[in-house]
This record gives sequence, C-alpha cells and structure tokens, in this order.
Amino acid sequence: MKSAESFTSLSPATGERVADHPVHGPEEVRAAVDRARSAARDWAGAGWKGRRAALLTFKRALASRAHELADTVAAETGKPMHDARAEVLLAVVHLDWAARNARRVLGRRRVASGALSVHQRSLLAYRPLGVIGVIGPWNYPVYTPMGSIGHALAAGNGVVFKPSELTPGTGVLLARMWEETVPEHAGLLRTVTGMGKTGEALAASGVDKVAFTGSAATARKVAAVCARTLTPLLAEGGGKDAVLVGADADLDEAADAIVWGAMSNAGQTCAGVERVYAVERVHKELCERIVNRARELRTGGPGAARDGEPDDYGPLTLPSQTGTVEYHLKEALGAGARAPLGGPESVRPPFVHPLVLVDVPEDSPAMREETFGPVVAVNSVRDLDEAVERANDSPYALGAAVFTGSRREGLAVAERLRAGAVSVGTVLGFAAVPSLPFGGSGESGYGRVHGDEGLRSFATPRSVTVRR
Ligand code: NAD
Repeated sequence: MKSAESFTSLSPATGERVADHPVHGPEEVRAAVDRARSAARDWAGAGWKGRRAALLTFKRALASRAHELADTVAAETGKPMHDARAEVLLAVVHLDWAARNARRVLGRRRVASGALSVHQRSLLAYRPLGVIGVIGPWNYPVYTPMGSIGHALAAGNGVVFKPSELTPGTGVLLARMWEETVPEHAGLLRTVTGMGKTGEALAASGVDKVAFTGSAATARKVAAVCARTLTPLLAEGGGKDAVLVGADADLDEAADAIVWGAMSNAGQTCAGVERVYAVERVHKELCERIVNRARELRTGGPGAARDGEPDDYGPLTLPSQTGTVEYHLKEALGAGARAPLGGPESVRPPFVHPLVLVDVPEDSPAMREETFGPVVAVNSVRDLDEAVERANDSPYALGAAVFTGSRREGLAVAERLRAGAVSVGTVLGFAAVPSLPFGGSGESGYGRVHGDEGLRSFATPRSVTVRR
C-alpha cells in the first residue's frame, strides 16, 4: 500500500521520534478490505482444524517474539517494560482461548425440533461475517485489539486493523508477524495506519462489522458512519469504575487492590479504579492505607529505571490527558475536596505523580467523567446501600469491585451493581480470564468481546432444517 502522506509517532516519555507511518486514505483502506476478503475465502476453506492450527502458530510467534512487541509498545506508550510484556502475555492467553474454543462455540450442532416439527431435524450453525474492521485505542495497543482480532479470525473472518495514531508501530508489527508466520493466509490480517479519518474510512469501507474500542465521543461518530450502511458495530468505551468497601473488609487487601487498579498503567485503563465508596467507619483508615501505598509508587518511562528497580508506571501517553487530570483536580479542590496525597504540583507533563482525593462532590468531573490518570477519589458513605446507589449513578457501566467481610455478602452486593464485570475481593479480576465476556453499557458502549459471547460477536447464526 502506497500513500502520499505520512505521520510520525513520538515517545511520550522523551518526545523523540519513534517511527514514520503512512496515512492511509479511503482507497488504500478499501484495497486492504478487498485483500482481506479474498484471503478470507481460503480461510473458510481451511476449516476449523486448519484455522485452529494457523492461529496457534500465530500465538506461538507472539509468545516467542513478545519482547519485540513489548519494545514497540513501551516505545509508543511510555509504559514500563514489565507492563508491556504483561500486556502481550494477556493477548496471547486470549488468542489461545479463541483458537481452541471457536469450534465448540460456533460449530454446527443439533437442537431440539419441538413437538410441532418432529418430521424434521434442526441444526444451528454459525457463519463468519466476512471482514471485520477493528479500530483500536493506545492504552493497551496489543491486548485490547487482540480481543477482537483473535476472536474475529477464529470465527472465520478476515480483519483490517486500524491502530491508534499513537501506537501505529504495534499494529504494523502484529500484521507483519501474521504474514511471516502464516504466509499461506497472507492478507487475512491487514493493518492500515493514520488518524481518525483512516478509522472513519474503515467504518465506511463496506466491512461486515466494526469492532471499535475508544472513547464514547468517538464511538458516537463511528456509529453515525456505520448507520449510513447499516454496518453492525461493537463499541467498547471508557469507564468510571467504582470500588465499594464495607466495614468488615480487610483494609490492607482493599488498599493494595485499589492502588494497583487506580495507578497501574498510569491510570490509563478503561476498567481502572477511579472512584471508591468506603463506609464511614473505615473511610479514614482506608484512606491512610491508600495514601501510604500510593506514596511509594515510582513514576518514569520505559528506560527510566533507577537503582536497578523498574518504575511502577510511566508518563501519560496522550499529552493532552495531563490537562484533563489538572482540570478534574482543580474542579474537585474548588468544590471542597481535599487531596491527602499530591496536589497541582503532582502534574508535571508528561508525568503525573499519584493523586488521592477525598470528599469529592458527586457532581464534580472527577466523579462523573473518565479521568484516565493516576488519580483516585475516595468518598465516605453511610453504608453499602448508599455505596451501591452512588456507584450505579454514573453514565458509565463497565467494571466495579466490592470488598466486604464475607465473600457471600460481597457477591450479594455485586449482584446489585450496574456493570459488565464485577470483582469481589479483588479488582479487574476478569482481565486474564479468557472465557469471561467483557463489555459495558451506557457510555461504556455495547456488545461483548472475549469468551463465547465474544466469538458470537463475529459470527452470524444460521438455522438449518432437514426433513427426516
Ligand atoms: P479515541 O476514541 O480517541 O480513539 C480510538 C480510535 O478511534 C483510534 O484508533 C482513533 O484514531 C480512532 N478514531 C478517532 N476518530 C475517529 C473517527 N471519527 N472515526 C473512526 N475512528 C476514529 O480513544 P483513545 O484515546 O485511543 O483510547 C482511550 C479510550 O479508550 C478511553 O476512553 C478508554 O477507556 C477506552 N478503552 C476502552 C476499552 C474497553 O475495552 N472498553 C479498552 C481500552 C480503552
């Protein structure tokens, strides 16, 4: 694919050039879709067994070349190498699961015909959709899109992937690894690079479904483009996840999990912890523990390890995101919140040092909008009923977590939470479990990736009846 224009990806940590990439326009995008569509015909002919073998070969390549992918992820996002490697590993786990489970979930099976149709046999089969356009974000540039790419390929589709303009090299490397390791199905997974316009061209290109992950604002734009051609859309958006802490909870466990969930990846996680509701009796103690742990965190870039110790998180990947953090902080403090850890001086672009806020008014942007930085707001509530009410009063509904004295009570509280994924006694428990579907509702989007539902997201059911 030749393109007249190009753009440069930069290291968020140093501002230095990482690489140049072409800006692909509508014609190049359509050519990639055509190529993937023709490769998908052979892919269909490979059958369940052939596709599974090819995908497991690809998986082994990702695993054995994880360092190469992680190097690119770290250079483009600024995250520490251990996080970049962990992300690749997670992607490998999900790809492996999709390859091994596609036939079980989507293969043809007999279903009951019912009393009125005893004269016929009834079969249910799933067919691939064709070509899936995957539009990805920058915060987990391998793990997140792989949730769609791996399942779409396993379901028998071709894929054209448009990575974020902040992480184009990661997307290019993924497609190159496919070509190198599965050359008999060259073209089945293509990457196109560019900004939002390239994503828009992909959504308008005649693909059979778009799997979008990114912000709610962009999801609306993609949905409008898809609406013109009735192209189905799976939209994975952001989150404003809450953690609920009861009076009998183990506060050390809760504080450890909250700090990890809020601060890892510099807080740039769709299902990261952004709000905490702790019952009054333990609020002060919990805050102290959170502050003590968060204070210890070390922030730097991929190459910024000091004293032989790796850093806990790096810079914010999107330069303008430090402005959002500053705005949320200013509004919260102006409305009466306190900051037991950090303050305006914590924002030192491109880095943001850990921020803990308490008593944040519920209508403040820090409680309503995605902050996407290493910031956690810890508010006190009368009891767990009030915690549930506040947690559910959010435009987002992606993940949530509960810490209580008993797992039973935790599960009962979790049942009442409006979220696609709930964790009890931990946070982000779903992330490494490939059989669990993932996705949200409201501003967090619609549709599911991962698990059986994730495979069905990229297939269409076909009912077959055979006269006996
Ligand atoms: P973004 O919405 O800015 O961009 C996402 C992708 O959409 C990029 O590839 C971008 O180039 C493309 N795009 C931009 N404008 C477009 C348009 N008009 N048409 C088509 N494509 C367009 O999001 P981001 O900043 O890259 O990612 C961060 C967001 O993603 C956060 O809100 C985060 O919570 C969310 N996220 C969600 C999940 C999830 O699984 N729910 C996972 C990771 C990130």
